[in-house]
Amino acid sequence: MRKPIIVGNWKMNKTPSEALEFMKGIEEVLTGEEAADYGIGAPYVDLDVCVKNAKNLIIAAENCNEKDSGAFTGEVSVPMLKEVGITYCIIGHSERRTYYNETNEACALKAKRLLADNIIPILCIGETEAEYDAGKTADVIKTQLAGSLAGLEAGEVAKMVIAYEPIWAIGTGKSATKEIAEDCCKLVRDTIKALYDEATGDAVRVQYGGSVKPDNIKEYMACEDIDGALIGGASLKVDSFKEIIDATK
Ligand code: PGA
Repeated sequence: MRKPIIVGNWKMNKTPSEALEFMKGIEEVLTGEEAADYGIGAPYVDLDVCVKNAKNLIIAAENCNEKDSGAFTGEVSVPMLKEVGITYCIIGHSERRTYYNETNEACALKAKRLLADNIIPILCIGETEAEYDAGKTADVIKTQLAGSLAGLEAGEVAKMVIAYEPIWAIGTGKSATKEIAEDCCKLVRDTIKALYDEATGDAVRVQYGGSVKPDNIKEYMACEDIDGALIGGASLKVDSFKEIIDATK
């Protein structure tokens, strides 16, 4: 049985004091007895305050560097995240792929390095609107998965979370139908079965992301191959994240 996992992605939002306020608001509704895992992806400077105030919430970084140390101004390494107490890390988000040239090859190196320190990668993949319109969604999913998982063993991939996020649905309010989301999440699982084996595909947790809100999350969670969601806008306010927890716990 795969445990559902619902993670907010704050992107470049919230100062440490705003992060602290959010943590206080959300922790009071979580008991640790929920059927799903709940978490927040936060900017680097918020991670320490989030971890120190988290009882039941998973705290994820939004990026990492695959090298351990060195002359890479502005970057943050996995040992740094580990020492702060981070247990998950988003990699390959479409915004990072688009604005910061994060490639499939970089994702594969980051995933390998994170897993070596037992930090679970949340690998994001998904097609653009033009690729969707051209009927290339399946090709994009397969290519991104093969490239971003290159060099990883089945046992490593089985621990990972894959977030299928069609770029045309991110921050647009135009969420994918539950049929599209389920088909694509199933394709993610089937691709991993083809690249590795049946058990690895059955173990990996697959999220849908893209304009998930309190009023549509239940539809996605009812789908067989959707094990959770990666949520941007609706994770920023305590009230809407609470509604998401209420709708899914
Ligand atoms: P959104 O963002 O929920 O605001 O569409 C999702 C994401 O970027 O992960």
